[in-house]
Amino acid sequence: MIKTVKTFERDNHILVVDTTSGERVVTHVPKGPGLARRMANYTKAKASHVVRGSPKASLEAIKKRFAICQRCPSGNFLPVEPKKRPASLIDLEIVGTCNDMQCGCFLHPTEIEPAKLAWADQECPEKHWGKAVSVSKN
Ligand code: SF4
Repeated sequence: MIKTVKTFERDNHILVVDTTSGERVVTHVPKGPGLARRMANYTKAKASHVVRGSPKASLEAIKKRFAICQRCPSGNFLPVEPKKRPASLIDLEIVGTCNDMQCGCFLHPTEIEPAKLAWADQECPEKHWGKAVSVSKN
C-alpha cells in the first residue's frame, strides 16, 4: 500500500512516487479533471445527494468501495499527499482522488467529509461499484 507519496505531472500523465520505504515506485495515472471541473462535478454530486435525503452508507460499504478504488480497474486512483488534501483529511493514513473526468472526488475509507464513498446514493463513474444500502441520513 502506498502511504507516502509525491506526485509530478509529465507528458499528460501523473507520476506517483512512493517514498514510504525509501524505494521509489512509480506508477502512471491519467491526468484527470482540473480544479474547476472537479468542483463542478462535486457540486452536482452533492446536490443530487441532498435531494435524495443525504443517505449514508455503512462503514463496511465505505471500506469495500475504497478497496475497489485502491485497485481501480480503470487506473483512475491517484494517492494524494497530505499537503494537497482538505484540512479535514490531512491526518488520514491514505487518501486518494478519482481521476475520471466525471469525478475528481477525494477517496478514503472514513465518513469524514468530503466523503463521496460515504454517500449511499453515489456510484462509480466507471461502474466498478454501485449504490449502497442506506443506513441513516447525514
Ligand atoms: S470511483 Fe471508480 S473509477 Fe474512480 S477510482 Fe474508484 S473505482 Fe476507479
